[in-house]
Amino acid sequence: MVNDNEYLEHHLGSLLTTAGTDLGEQTAVAPEVVKRARRRIDVDELFTGVRQCNRTLMSRAITLLESTAPAHRVLAQELLVKLLPFSGNALRVGITGVPGVGKSTFIEALGMKLIADGHKLAVLAIDPSSTKTRGSILGDKTRMAKLAREDNAFIRPSPSAGTLGGVAKATRESMVVFEAAGFDVILVETVGVGQSEVAVSQMVDCFTFLALAGAGDQLQGIKKGVLEMADLVAINKADGSNLKNAKRAARELAAAMRMVRPEDSLWHPPTITMSAVEHEGIEEFWTHVTEHHTAMLESGKFEHNRREQQVQWMWSMVHETLLQRLNTDPDVVETRKLVESQLREAQITPTLAAERILSAFDKNNT
Ligand code: GDP
Repeated sequence: MVNDNEYLEHHLGSLLTTAGTDLGEQTAVAPEVVKRARRRIDVDELFTGVRQCNRTLMSRAITLLESTAPAHRVLAQELLVKLLPFSGNALRVGITGVPGVGKSTFIEALGMKLIADGHKLAVLAIDPSSTKTRGSILGDKTRMAKLAREDNAFIRPSPSAGTLGGVAKATRESMVVFEAAGFDVILVETVGVGQSEVAVSQMVDCFTFLALAGAGDQLQGIKKGVLEMADLVAINKADGSNLKNAKRAARELAAAMRMVRPEDSLWHPPTITMSAVEHEGIEEFWTHVTEHHTAMLESGKFEHNRREQQVQWMWSMVHETLLQRLNTDPDVVETRKLVESQLREAQITPTLAAERILSAFDKNNT
């Protein structure tokens, strides 16, 4: 496991880069605004509550981290800096798959097993659909009802506002809260929408992919990019009349995985079949996850990956912040109207239009 101090240093390095530069904010937050927020939010109380694993205060801490209000962002960074020395000790596992593949059924079955084994489990979701429609595929609290009642489980739905970058940031920061509260397994769930799988793969130690046996072409609809990222592939619903089909799909996917990841000598991502409803293959799934963990730890790749993830985290924050600034810059907003209409009328070229937008942006930012 990464040494605490080194881990803190890396975390702080990236956090301090962004502290005080709120997403969408170009100026520092006025001290009186922060002071007002401080009257309602007690960072020390939240810190103590998280460390004591107080569920109400953990929820409030995460709500603070999810907030985009500038004053809240300042307090959120203060809380994070306090919590960071106590974070980093959970095994973080990503789970992706299309809606209906059986993610919540599986996570509930796996979660109950992990709790019975003595683990403390947090389940987080990244659901980009919820940021667009305000309704969500994953965020529904009634999913995993049994697991949600367990004292040693905490299920947090995806934030329902913000860009994918913003949601990913909130999820990463929530992981710090759960780890500081003593949770030792974190499952991050996502649907295969847009870039959400990439975002999840960049914040976990083991990335798993749930698939279904299709009719005819078994690999239809499975993105090569997902296979490239996956450390473990599981064909779910391998039960009843579907069992044979699932086994065949697993053989085909295993062959595809060997083609996609031929050079990977450290870890050959296994392809298994399972049935979340019949609780078949759940143990095997977890055995592979722990074997992967051991292989990564022993080779030093675990630590390397976590450090690289800090760098990726920083850059995704930089990209997110820049994009927000670009979109809200008053000169850009003005110029945009003009050049878009000129473009539609074929009066200028896209290259020239892009230059105009960027010089409008540079005016306020150089
Ligand atoms: P999610 O959208 O990926 O979270 O999928 P759900 O867990 O909600 O499952 C979608 C449907 O598939 C539900 O009706 C489940 O009961 C069913 N399901 C989930 N896992 C299995 C399985 O292993 N076998 C079978 N036959 N059905 C399953």
